[in-house]
Amino acid sequence: MNTKKLFRSRVLFVVIILGFVFSAFSINGGHDITPDEVVTHIKYLASDELGGRFPGTRGDSLAEEYAIGLFKSYGLVPIAEDGYRQRFSFVTEIKAGDQNSFSVDLKGKEKKYEPGTDFFPLNFSTNGSAEGELVFAGYGINASDKKYDDFGKINLNGKIAVIMRYTPGYNNPHEDTFSDYEPIRKKCNAVRDAGAKGIIVITGPQSGEDEIFTTLRLSKETESIGIPVIIVKRTIIEKIFEANGKNLDEVQKGIDNSKTPNSFELEKAKVKFQSDLVYVNSNTSNIIGYIEGTDPVLKNEIIVIGAHMDHLGDGMKYGSMNEKHEPEIHNGADDNASGSAGVLIIADKLAAERKNLKRSYIFMLFSGEEAGLIGSAYFTKSELFKKYNITAMINMDMIGRMNEDKLTVEGAGTSSSWKTILDSLNNINDKLILTLGESGYGSSDHSSFYSMDIPVLQFFTGLHTDYHRPSDDWQLINADGEVKVLNLVYEFVTVIDSRPEKPDLIKAKEEKQQTMRGFKVTLGIIPDYSDAVEGLQILGVKAGGPGENAGLQKGDIIKKMGSHVIKNIYDYTYALGDFKKGDETEIVVKRGDEELTLKVVFNK
Ligand SMILES: [Zn+2]
Repeated sequence: MNTKKLFRSRVLFVVIILGFVFSAFSINGGHDITPDEVVTHIKYLASDELGGRFPGTRGDSLAEEYAIGLFKSYGLVPIAEDGYRQRFSFVTEIKAGDQNSFSVDLKGKEKKYEPGTDFFPLNFSTNGSAEGELVFAGYGINASDKKYDDFGKINLNGKIAVIMRYTPGYNNPHEDTFSDYEPIRKKCNAVRDAGAKGIIVITGPQSGEDEIFTTLRLSKETESIGIPVIIVKRTIIEKIFEANGKNLDEVQKGIDNSKTPNSFELEKAKVKFQSDLVYVNSNTSNIIGYIEGTDPVLKNEIIVIGAHMDHLGDGMKYGSMNEKHEPEIHNGADDNASGSAGVLIIADKLAAERKNLKRSYIFMLFSGEEAGLIGSAYFTKSELFKKYNITAMINMDMIGRMNEDKLTVEGAGTSSSWKTILDSLNNINDKLILTLGESGYGSSDHSSFYSMDIPVLQFFTGLHTDYHRPSDDWQLINADGEVKVLNLVYEFVTVIDSRPEKPDLIKAKEEKQQTMRGFKVTLGIIPDYSDAVEGLQILGVKAGGPGENAGLQKGDIIKKMGSHVIKNIYDYTYALGDFKKGDETEIVVKRGDEELTLKVVFNK
């Protein structure tokens, strides 16, 4: 009758062969997991009423209340600072303030312009004002590998630079020579490093694009770059060109055709501008519940079972891959109502078996994951984290779209028995096609825990075309598939619960050093996205990577790489883009009160 019982005895058999002693399967976990309960949770969390569960919204609170209600009904103990809630806030939106201004003094005549129609601050602009003489700096590119330098013949020190978007010859689809230098933030960094105190960005007449002045989207590149930056309507700058006897269209054509810079001072004009961005914070929470184990010793070894519950809302703030730039509810059924349902269901089952549990459990539904693992990073830095001896973390992010019985489990290399247990359970269970990834670092919340030297596992049924789009809906969930995942997770947990020894930690050797897209080299570190320090703080160092070889340590703050000053993660990624395989450079880091210079060699 109970098929579970059947394979339970088979598990025992396999397990004894493997040399483990499991008593795990005396845990029955109340009822069997059903596709219905999977669908019920997902259908609600991914409903239009919840609006895509964006942090700080009504939908976010409704999701929190839903989870809290269930945690209560399962009898989980509220251990967070505020009952089941660990409250925190972070920047989720950037708006234009009312102090944006821009005026041009052309031959002694001053003209003021309108924010929103004539100019607009860029989202990485620093609040403040800039005033002075203008220098045209072409495309704002210094590409030594292409023997092209827009800054070579001008002095930008203390000046305001005018640069064009895109790259020389950008409109010719057969030419792709400058694409590495195209990102606007990267250019602005280069202009800043060349000494400019403010930047005006324009869309050149040859670039054939509409000029957009009113969108400020929170992207991963919003951290301010240190000087004010505005984008200005081309016609305003064209007039300044004319007053200096130049024609912007001709100048751009000349640069595009010859691939030769043509930078110069625009003497006849002075400008004054002020950039005013308002950062909107959202208040949200991690939802946390606890079950205490029964073994007097082992109950002090806590296992975290977690998933992020937040998603992208209407897709207008960050993370959306919606081709239409219009608000549309991103229901996030797979990402990550599916994993949240998983936490609820496993919590329910374990709570029903609490008398048989040796170890203790923390169930967590994180917020702010989509903005860069904000909630889990907040937790692992909180006092609450320090209070509990967490010995393993199991994460579920996107487990609702199983295809042909395929399941990816990341972090399988982070503890010595993980793979054996997974394989042994899988062999007699649903026979899933498992792909086991070694690394404990990845793009979900388990990464925050692995950074704290905790063995982790992350369950994932794979990417699909609805990922981060409004079409990630509950109707597309493979509920039978998710039941298979949850059975495996549940059984895995019961095995860990019953073993006398604490899961050991292996800082897995990264099987392949993941190189960021478009980068030729990697440093092999995990950047801390959440910290507001100046520089780039290192959250973790990958074993065997160039960073570890150079002597970088967790907690170090990178201040300089080669000639690049590193003020934040974007400076870092752009600096990294300038190195090739086999290059050697110096890295200046702050470690405590010390400043160290280390030599790094990028892998060939
Ligand atoms: Zn996501």
